[in-house]
Amino acid sequence: MASMMQPQIILLKEGTDTSQGKPQLISNINAVMAVADVVRTTLGPRGMDKLIHDDKGNTTISNDGATIMKLLDIVHPGAKILVDIAKSQDSEVGDGTTTVVLLAGEFLREAKPFIEDGVHPQNLIRSFRTASFMAVEKIKELAVSIEGKSLDEKRSLLAKCAATTLSSKLIGGEKEFFAKMVVDAVISIGNDDRLNMIGIKKVPGGTMRDSFLVNGVAFKKTFSYAGFEQQPKKFLNPKILLLNIELELKSEKENAEIRLSDPLQYQSIVDAEWNIIYAKLDKCVQSGAKIVLSRLAIGDLATQYFADRDIFCAGRVAEDDLHRVAAATGSAVQTSVNNVIEEVLGSCEVFEEKQVGNERFNIFSGCPSGQTATIVLRGGADQFIEEAERSLHDAIMIVRRAMKNSTVVAGGGAIDMEISRYLWQHARNIAGKSQLFINAFAKALEVIPRQLCDNAGFDATDVLNKLRQKHALPSGEGSLYGVDINTGGISDSFANFVWEPAVVKINAINAATEAACLILSVDETVKNPKSESAQGEAGMMGRGRGGGAMRGGRGRGMRRR
Ligand code: ADP
Ligand code: MG
Repeated sequence: MASMMQPQIILLKEGTDTSQGKPQLISNINAVMAVADVVRTTLGPRGMDKLIHDDKGNTTISNDGATIMKLLDIVHPGAKILVDIAKSQDSEVGDGTTTVVLLAGEFLREAKPFIEDGVHPQNLIRSFRTASFMAVEKIKELAVSIEGKSLDEKRSLLAKCAATTLSSKLIGGEKEFFAKMVVDAVISIGNDDRLNMIGIKKVPGGTMRDSFLVNGVAFKKTFSYAGFEQQPKKFLNPKILLLNIELELKSEKENAEIRLSDPLQYQSIVDAEWNIIYAKLDKCVQSGAKIVLSRLAIGDLATQYFADRDIFCAGRVAEDDLHRVAAATGSAVQTSVNNVIEEVLGSCEVFEEKQVGNERFNIFSGCPSGQTATIVLRGGADQFIEEAERSLHDAIMIVRRAMKNSTVVAGGGAIDMEISRYLWQHARNIAGKSQLFINAFAKALEVIPRQLCDNAGFDATDVLNKLRQKHALPSGEGSLYGVDINTGGISDSFANFVWEPAVVKINAINAATEAACLILSVDETVKNPKSESAQGEAGMMGRGRGGGAMRGGRGRGMRRR
C-alpha cells in the first residue's frame, strides 16, 4: 500500500524511449537473425548474388558478404554489429565475410530458446567463449602446413586456395585462370606488405579470358597534347624519370601582377618564361631519360619538345600509379629537375603503349625490383567487372594470408563438421548446464555445410547425416569430408583441393563469437528524443521485438518512466 503512495520518480527526459530486459534481448537477436538471413543464400559455389541499387541509381551485383552488408544500409543498432564484423573480416583476412555473419546469426539462433526459457545470458556467454577457444585450438591442430615446399609446389598449393575462394564468385567459371594470375601477382610482389602494389585496372569489353597480368605497372594513357603522336611508343631498357612538377607555360594572370612602364619590356617577360621552361625541359633531356612521367600537367610545348628528341612523356599520372612505377622501376619521384642524378632514374625491360580494348595503356614490364604487378581485367558489363575486381581482391588477400601463415584446412564444411563433432564429444563429459550451451555452439557450426547444401539445392538433412556419420568414425578417417558441390553427396574436400587458409576460419569463429556475446550482453537500449529527431529516420531503430533489422520493424519494447 505504502509503495503506491510514493511519488513517481522521473529519471529520464520526457519522451525518452528505453527498452530493456528479455524482450530487448530477443529483439536484438531477431534483428541479427534477419540480417544473417539476407546473406545466407550467397554462401558457397552455388550461392546466389544480390543486386542492390541505391537511391542514387547505382547498381551493384555482389556475392561478397562485406560488400552486401555495407550496401544494405542497416539501421538497427544491434544488427549494425554484424556489418562491423563483416568489414573487419574483410580487412583482416579478406575472405569468409558471409561465413562470419552466418555464424554470428546461428549462434544467436541457438541461444534464443535458452534466453526465452530464462537462462541468464552470462552463462551462455561463458560457454560460448569456452567453445570458441576450444574450436580455434582444434583448428590450429588440424591445419596442414604448406611450409618448406618448393616454389613450384607452393604455387600450385596457393592456387588451390585462390580457386576455392573464387569458386563462389561470378568469375568462378574461370577460377583456374584467375587463380594462377593471382598467385603469380602475389608471388611477384614478394614480401611487400603494401596491398596497393598490386594494381587492378578495369577495361570494359572483351571477355574474362582477355584479362592479363603485367609483371610491372600498367595504366591508362593520360590526357595528351598535340605532338604526342610523334613520340615513340615503344622502348627497350629505357631510363625513366618521374616528376612532380608542371612542365607547362603558366598563364600568370591569376598568380602575379606585373606593372610595366615600357611596352618593349613585355617581350622580355615573355622570353623569360620561355627560357625557364626550356631550361627545365633541357635538364630532363640531359638526364638521359627516355620516358618522362609527371604527376602534374605536361603541356603542349613540352610534349612537342620531347617528341622532337624521341622521348615519351605523360602528364597527370595518378598518384598511386606513379608510386607503383617508382617502386617497380627503382626510381624516385623528383620535385625539381635540377641535379637529376643517375640514381633517381629507373628502368624496365620494355615500355610500350598498347591498345587494350578501346583504351590505350602505358605498360612497363620486366621491372627490376619486381615489386609490383598489375592485373588488367576485361569483361562485359560494368557491374560484372566491378564484382570481378572484388572477387580478385578476396583471392589476393587469401593467397597473401596463406603465404604468411601457410596453414590450410579443408573447406566445403569439412572443418566445421569436424569442430562440431569435437565439441559435441567434449560436451558429453561436462556435468551441468554448460553441456547444453556447448552443444548449441556445436550445432550452430553445422550451418556452413547445411547452407552450402541448401544453396546448391541438395537435401541438407541427408547430406548432414552422412557427414555426421563420416566424422564420427572412430578411426578419424572421415575428418576431411565435406559437401561435394558437384554430386550432391559428400567427398574428401582436402583431396579435392577445396582448401581454405586456417586464418579464415579462426578469424571467422572468433569474430562471430565476439559479436554474439556482445549482443547477448546488452539488455537495455536507451534512446533520447533529441538524437532521435536529429537522426530522422534512423531514429526508428532498435525497438520492438518484431526484429525487422532493416528499416521499419517498430514493435513494442518495455516503457519505463
Ligand atoms: P565467404 O564470403 O564466407 O567466403 P563464400 O560465398 O566465398 O563465402 O563461400 C565460402 C564457402 O564455400 C566456404 O565454406 C568454402 O569451403 C565453400 N566452398 C568453396 N568452394 C567449394 C567447393 N568447390 N566445394 C565445396 N565447398 C566449397
Ligand atoms: Mg569467399
